[in-house]
This record gives sequence, C-alpha cells and structure tokens, in this order.
Amino acid sequence: MEDVSAVTAPTEAQIDKSAGFHPLPAANLERVDSFGMNLHAMSYVWRPSTVAGIHQVFAKARATGRKVGLRGAGRSYGDASLNCEQICLDLTRMNRVLSWDPQSGIIEIEPGVTLRQLWQYCVGDGWWPPVVSGTMFVTMGGALGMNYHGKNNFQAGPIGNHVLDFDLVTPTGELLTCSREVNPDIFHAAIGGFGMLGCFTRIRIQMKHVESGHLSVYAFSTRNFAEIIREFEARMDRADYLVGWIDCFATGAMLGRGAVHEAKYLHIADDPNPQQSLRVENQELPDTILGLLPKSIVWRFLKPFTNNAGMRLVNWAKYWSSATIGNRKTVRQSHAGFAFLLDYVPNWKWVYKPHGFLQFQSFVPAETAEKCFTSQIEACHRAGIVPYLGVFKRHKKDSFLMTHGVNGYSFALDFAITARNRQRLHALTRELTDIALRAGGRFYFAKDSTLDPVSARAYLGEDTIREFARMKRRCDPDGMLHTELAKRLFAEDLLNT
Ligand SMILES: Cc1cc2nc3c(=O)[nH]c(=O)nc-3n(C[C@H](O)[C@H](O)[C@H](O)COP(=O)(O)OP(=O)(O)OC[C@H]3O[C@@H](n4cnc5c(N)ncnc54)[C@H](O)[C@@H]3O)c2cc1C
Repeated sequence: MEDVSAVTAPTEAQIDKSAGFHPLPAANLERVDSFGMNLHAMSYVWRPSTVAGIHQVFAKARATGRKVGLRGAGRSYGDASLNCEQICLDLTRMNRVLSWDPQSGIIEIEPGVTLRQLWQYCVGDGWWPPVVSGTMFVTMGGALGMNYHGKNNFQAGPIGNHVLDFDLVTPTGELLTCSREVNPDIFHAAIGGFGMLGCFTRIRIQMKHVESGHLSVYAFSTRNFAEIIREFEARMDRADYLVGWIDCFATGAMLGRGAVHEAKYLHIADDPNPQQSLRVENQELPDTILGLLPKSIVWRFLKPFTNNAGMRLVNWAKYWSSATIGNRKTVRQSHAGFAFLLDYVPNWKWVYKPHGFLQFQSFVPAETAEKCFTSQIEACHRAGIVPYLGVFKRHKKDSFLMTHGVNGYSFALDFAITARNRQRLHALTRELTDIALRAGGRFYFAKDSTLDPVSARAYLGEDTIREFARMKRRCDPDGMLHTELAKRLFAEDLLNT
C-alpha cells in the first residue's frame, strides 16, 4: 500500500505551479482522510448548502481547469471520496428533509442527510430505513453513490432497490430527474456509480414499515465455513437479517468458526408497548459500556490488544462466549442496537493509529464461497497477516450497472497496517483478489483500496465498463468528476487521461 499523497501538504503555490492551474483560495485547502486513515489528500474543499452552490462549484472548477470529487461523510474505507490537489465537493451541509409522509412512508431528502437523521426522523411514526449499513454516520448521497447493502441484502437488496427517484446535477449544469421509468439507464448507473455521473441533490426513498421498535435476535455459534453456510442457506427464507462473525485466527477443522445473529421483525402483538419501543430515546445506543465506562474512552482500553497476540485472545474469547454462555439465545434488541454494532465504540478505528487499516471484502457465488474463503484465510496465515475482524453476509443479485451484488456471500476482512507489514499486505491483498476472481467474485468500491485496473475489468467485464463510460460521456463529457479511486481503476475509460 502506498499513500495517495504525502502527508506533508504542498503549498498552494507549489500545486498551482506544478499543474499549471489557475489558483484557488488557500483558505479552502484542507487535508482529507480516508476512513481507514491510511490514505490522505490535500484538496480545495467547498461545502455548499444549496443546489445553486453546487452549480457554482462546478463553474469554479470549469473556470480554473480543476476536477471535482464528490464527498459525503467520508466513511468509505479507501480512496473513493479523495481527490488530490483538486476540488472536494462536500455535501454534508445539504442535510434537509424536504418532505415526509407518515402514511405512505415516503421521504424526500437532500444528499447530506445522514442515515442517523433518517431513522431518527421516521422511527416514531413506525418506519425504519429499508437497508442500513453497519454505521449510521454515512450520508444518503454517499449511500447511493456506493449503493450500500445491509444485513438483509439477501431479502431486501441494496438501498437502490428502495429509491423511487432522484435529481442528479451534472457538471454541465443539467438537472436530471431519474427513476425506473424516466432516464432508467442513468438511474441504474448513478446508483452505485461512485460519484462519476453527477451529484444527487434530491432523493426519494420508500421506508420500511415496522410494528415495533424491537427485533427478535437469535444468536448461535458455528464451527467452520461449511456449517455457517449451511445455517445461512437454511434460514434465509424466514430471517429478516443475518450476519456472521468469523474468528480468522482459527485453523484446521475449526477454520472459519464463528457466530451468527439472525433477526426478525416483531409483530405488534409481540410488543406490549410499541409506542415506547419506537421512541428515538429507546433506540439510541447507550453512552456507557456496562453502565460505567464512557464509550468515548473505550478505544483506549482496546488499543493494548491491537496486535496479533491480543487479537488472537479477543477472537478466541468472543468465540468461546458465543459457543457457551451466548449460544442458542434469543434476545430483544432495538433496531439501532442491532444494526449499528460498530457505532457502540466511538472512534474504534483509532486503535489502528498511526498507520491505519484496510478492509478487504470480496463477494462470491454461494457455490464457491466455502472454498474461496477457506483459501483466503489460509493465504493470510501463510503470509503471517491475520485479519483482526471477519464479517460474513448473504447477498443477492441486483440490477445496478456497477453492482457488487452476487447470489452468494461476502467476507469482509480488517487488516491492521504497520510499518513492517505494508509491502507484504499489499502482496497478500493481490493474492486474495486472485482467489476471489477465480471463484467468480466481485468487489465493492466503498471498501476497496487495493484493486488494480486489470482486476476491476476482470470482474466487471468489458461491456459493463463500456456502457458506464458511455453514460459518463453523456453526463460528464469533460470528465470533470474525478476521484483517486476512479483514477486508480478507470483512468483510461472514464477520465480522458
Ligand atoms: C464502520 C463502517 C461500517 C460500514 N458498513 C457497511 C455495510 O454494512 N454495508 C455497506 O454496504 N457499506 C458499509 N460501509 C461503507 C459505507 O456505507 C459507504 O462507504 C458509504 O458510501 C459511505 O457514505 P459517505 O456519506 O461517507 O460517502 P463517501 O464515503 O464520502 O462517498 C462515497 C461515494 O459516494 C460518492 N458521493 C458522495 N456524495 C454524493 C452525492 N451527493 N452524489 C453522488 N455521489 C456522491 C463519492 O464520490 C464516493 O464515490 C461501512 C462503512 C463504515 C465506516
């Protein structure tokens, strides 16, 4: 892994002189980070609060010969919303709810509305976002840019399946309204189009009706990949959510051991007081752990364990507790408590300082999943770099052009980056990519920082890339929309470079 840019900021004069651009105000020059803290960019950042402000940023880019990278909350792990030495158009201030109908559950929002705002706005009326990611701190514009999935992907598909329509402002100044009926090709390409076709400025989503603020959650342990896959296949017709955790340190017959959480919506008859369970206060995550420790300092207690020996122990303890005291237990959990496990510990990623971390997530067909994920973990063990966290999910195919969806499974692996393992980790992710490609796998730009153009081509296919490039020429003929990820993977096809 190499950093996208040096951590030391070039001066404005250096940037402008070297690139031959017209100068932009130094006051807008900021360091922008990836969520994994391993990639950084110096960018000229603008945060407009209106559609007119977005047009002005595009006009400024045109006048000064700059590229524009769209950015939501910056929760993508890699370089998807980084744009070195160019303009970063940050949409977080466009965060208004434009309309809400508690009868139909249809909400219309600006792109900077966060997932947290969204569920807090609707839950009291008995509606929950149809698909949520593992953190509530994403914007819905960023969510559509990646077409995020949740623990119910095998049932509900990605968030795009629940979008009714949206407005897209293109760099040429056009405002395109898109739905399954109007501009359907742009609808299916801009959702999951990693900010390459235009900027979502208005999004209309159908929320999911819920009768209770609680889910019924059943937890049990599994001994290996074969068993977890068997359990998922047996449960996916009746479960509303399924997620697995894997102890990546286990070897031999226990390779792939882990735990599963299966959740189901409660019916009104099962909840004595839905008015209470649906209140925002009763969904919020607790401020303390075990009623004692302020959550904001918990990451400091985890830091001493963030090494191979410590994480082996943590993973073993988690497996042991889920296989004994936690095995085959049913509990009630709030929607937010179940969905946003990773938000329980604020700034947990700081345990990976100073070098950061990366996530490698591959999506492979159900038939090849067991062999593929077993080979990936064996490759990690051979390389001596074991992921500290492994998350397992069931997916289905969808109709979006640049989709990461498969009728199968994904396995997300969190790797700590250290000064010593950097080169070896890069080689390992190449090997993991090849294993996934051989298994018919796909990848997800929100998590990616290691794919290369050849691998991206191999899983997307020539026709898909050609079609996306056609759409890019239609919406952004000058190739103004640009990110480090687009440059890394599609420089020739999309960016006129
Ligand atoms: C802890 C954690 C857990 C996660 N869990 C999941 C999960 O369970 N499932 C899942 O699918 N993902 C998951 N993610 C990934 C996350 O959902 C995506 O990266 C999401 O896109 C982040 O939204 P954002 O607002 O931070 O967007 P950013 O990361 O800032 O941007 C994402 C992409 O969208 C584009 N974009 C941003 N705003 C707009 C706009 N207005 N118009 C057009 N394009 C735009 C950007 O150019 C970029 O390509 C997780 C991330 C974290 C940090």
